[in-house]
Amino acid sequence: MSIKKIYLDYASTTPIAEEVKTDIKSVLDNDLFGNPSSLDHEYGSLVNELIESSRTDVAKLINADGDEIIWTSGATEANNLALMGFAEFKMKDRPLRIASSFIEHKSVIEPLMELKQKGHSVEFIAPNHDGYIDPDVISRTLDNGVDLLSCMHINNEVGSTNDIALIGSLCRDKGTVFHVDAAQSNGKLSLDVRENNIDLMSLSAHKVYGPKGVGALFVNHETVGRLKPLIFGGGQERGMRPGTLATHQIVGMASAFRLAKSSMQKDHIHLSKCRELFLESIKDIEGLKINGDPKNAYPGIISLCFPDLNADSLIFAMDDLAVSKGSACATDSDEPSHVLKSMGLSQAEINGTIRISFGRKTLHQDIERASSSVRAASEHLRLVSGETL
Ligand code: PMP
Repeated sequence: MSIKKIYLDYASTTPIAEEVKTDIKSVLDNDLFGNPSSLDHEYGSLVNELIESSRTDVAKLINADGDEIIWTSGATEANNLALMGFAEFKMKDRPLRIASSFIEHKSVIEPLMELKQKGHSVEFIAPNHDGYIDPDVISRTLDNGVDLLSCMHINNEVGSTNDIALIGSLCRDKGTVFHVDAAQSNGKLSLDVRENNIDLMSLSAHKVYGPKGVGALFVNHETVGRLKPLIFGGGQERGMRPGTLATHQIVGMASAFRLAKSSMQKDHIHLSKCRELFLESIKDIEGLKINGDPKNAYPGIISLCFPDLNADSLIFAMDDLAVSKGSACATDSDEPSHVLKSMGLSQAEINGTIRISFGRKTLHQDIERASSSVRAASEHLRLVSGETL
């Protein structure tokens, strides 16, 4: 398949790295088809060893132990298992008090709404105008007694990056269980679960050059006995997530995480350069604003806003770029972005927002093409609508 557009939607998903493809292929080519739970013969035990070494590799990236990793189908399932699993365990004879934020991904917001329906108390904290969750607000919220706090690391729409170290220490001081959705940050920013007092953390392979359909939930030793599984069946994953494991996907995730560990610094320098170049080349485009914090946000994600234009028309007009309006998981609904809304953007600003996200394969000439395309599309749309600024 050859698509001519420049891919600038890495926050939605990434291409599988060549090294990862090779590792996945070797599982398939070598007929490593045994069931990893069939330990009575070599077909199974060999594959089991692969699964366990993959578990250790994934754990190493976040300074966890292998037995603290539960394989899932991705971060959506990991978020659901962390939140629903914790609440359903019913360790208390009263409804739980859960806190989170309005900038979370739908795979956190929706399970929490479900828990609210079931009678638990759920509070969503508003971000500041730049899309950060203020640790002072979290601290005051935790003072009211919170059983579980869920806070994302990097936001997928604007790239705001929460101070997980500070929030983690606040949670530890107050005895609050701390869950982090690290789908956008795993393998991109280093995040040590011990140093940051993280109890539960959701991981995804496809955001970091691994395959889709595989992820994991980190559950620390203290919390593992406090989760109820979402599905029931065999005893895989110590009963927390039954079902035969997808060997090639898991090997692919481990391969992507190993690669991310070794190239994290290089990737970060590359993305920072891309961001700098892009911001410089678009700074004089008429009527353009950057949502969030242009200086400290994660360099790979830039949220562009033309309050006088429509995002769909812009995307259509930039026919050489593959970009999106925001979260790929919400594009099926016509609802305006809950993240931008909670940051205080007006309806016009939300309607005129597009997200550009860079990755390992983004070239400097792609950045130049992208900025020319944004400029030309915005000028063209104003011309055809007869509007001027
Ligand atoms: N959380 C965040 C912040 C995300 O960006 C995404 C993917 N868009 C998810 C969770 C869901 O991840 P997955 O696709 O692995 O289910």
